[in-house]
Amino acid sequence: MDRKILEEMKKYGEFLENRGLNLSSHSGNMSVKRGNRIFIKRRGAMMGDLHEEDIVETGLEEDDSGVIIASTEIGVHRAIYKNTSALAIVHAHTPYAIALSITRDDIIPIDDEGRYHLKRVPILDVEESIGSEEVAEKLPDILQNYNAAIVKGHGTFAHGENLEEAYNWITVVESICKIIYLVENLGGDTVKEEIW
Ligand SMILES: [Zn+2]
Repeated sequence: MDRKILEEMKKYGEFLENRGLNLSSHSGNMSVKRGNRIFIKRRGAMMGDLHEEDIVETGLEEDDSGVIIASTEIGVHRAIYKNTSALAIVHAHTPYAIALSITRDDIIPIDDEGRYHLKRVPILDVEESIGSEEVAEKLPDILQNYNAAIVKGHGTFAHGENLEEAYNWITVVESICKIIYLVENLGGDTVKEEIW
């Protein structure tokens, strides 16, 4: 495997862990696409402590090798790669985004930086949200138009041209959600759709 893929996955895995963007230790996942090959975090590997054996190589198609030990979300990653321009995907169990997604159907940024980056953060509500066919079917449609979306009660999925960009979208969405949470807890008004 390309050393750069391992080094980048290690780096962003540690960032996610150390910055509280993926609260439970073995959850979340990330991948990169190189041609028709996918490099993805191994099922059950610890996000904040990734090693070479924790990165699984597989293909874009379902019958390809490596899938048994790949992340449970491999089907979702494949569907995103097949239906969007994504070259890298980061998925994290982002606490503020999860909390807000449970209490509303849509997220509109209220802080200046958040509004600069995104007009809206879509929330996908499905019956079964973890590694499900329903997510694989519905999430790519949303991610054709957005770099990040939240699966209700589960976590944030973000994509970009590389892991840094996908990671950045994870942090932007979490920042937007944290500010809304803080303002609501201060008794402030967080409904600002009208300005758009
Ligand atoms: Zn997850």
